[in-house]
Amino acid sequence: MIKIAIYGKGGIGKSTTTSNLSAAFSLMGYRVLQVGCDPKADSTKNLAGYKIPSVLDQLRSKSNDISKDDIVFSGYGNTFCVEAGGPTPGIGCAGRGIITAFEKMEELGVYETYKPDIVLYDVLGDVVCGGFAMPIRGGYADYVFIVTSGESMALYAASNIAYAIKNFGTRNYAKLGGIILNERNVENEYELTEKVANEIESNIVAQIPRDDTVQKAEALTKTVIEAFPDSQMAQSYINLAKKVLEVCHEQKL
Ligand code: ADP
Ligand code: MG
Repeated sequence: MIKIAIYGKGGIGKSTTTSNLSAAFSLMGYRVLQVGCDPKADSTKNLAGYKIPSVLDQLRSKSNDISKDDIVFSGYGNTFCVEAGGPTPGIGCAGRGIITAFEKMEELGVYETYKPDIVLYDVLGDVVCGGFAMPIRGGYADYVFIVTSGESMALYAASNIAYAIKNFGTRNYAKLGGIILNERNVENEYELTEKVANEIESNIVAQIPRDDTVQKAEALTKTVIEAFPDSQMAQSYINLAKKVLEVCHEQKL
């Protein structure tokens, strides 16, 4: 089982990238579990085809008496979807939601039951506090990939995340796999991103163009891989999936 966390600034394209990666891995014959770790709980929407209820929602409405079927939902191909969810706005800590959800998934034996080959955690990385760092620290993820554009706030978040990984960098914790450049078409985007990648001793593993095929697929509540499998954009995500696996295999302990 390869466990990968995708981090990045809010709105940068983590969920779009992660869902298309999941779908691409499924096309390649892998069983995939995607876990959304953003209080927005919309990570898996285009993979499942609808907004699935989150673990925290289910715990709130059904108390502690929930089963695997209440939190794990089938998505495109051989994919399974979970959303951690968030606290009631204004009350509670969003990071705590991730911890609760992770504990519940273990308690219910989600990994043993669904036996994924690849687990993808889609994590909001603006705040690298307790709960949001859990996928890096708790032995959950082996590798972290950071999604960024060449915009300064996205790059700022990317280097914060990279430093957090370094700070936790002992044997059992996640390693930085690399940077995924999700283009916003800012001037000198590649160079700006490469500079930050060098600063954090990492590199750009793949470039995803900005392409309105994403919006067209979104309008159908689908990933690009599902809605437009023959498009250039689908090919970009398939190439990304291959690159990510290459990095994971190369760096294997
Ligand atoms: P995050 O999960 O990081 O908050 P999302 O994946 O939800 O961000 O992306 C935010 C929006 O950006 C999406 O609704 C999508 O329409 C758009 N988007 C992301 N990546 C691309 C891309 N490569 N090309 C075009 N639009 C994109
Ligand atoms: Mg998201």
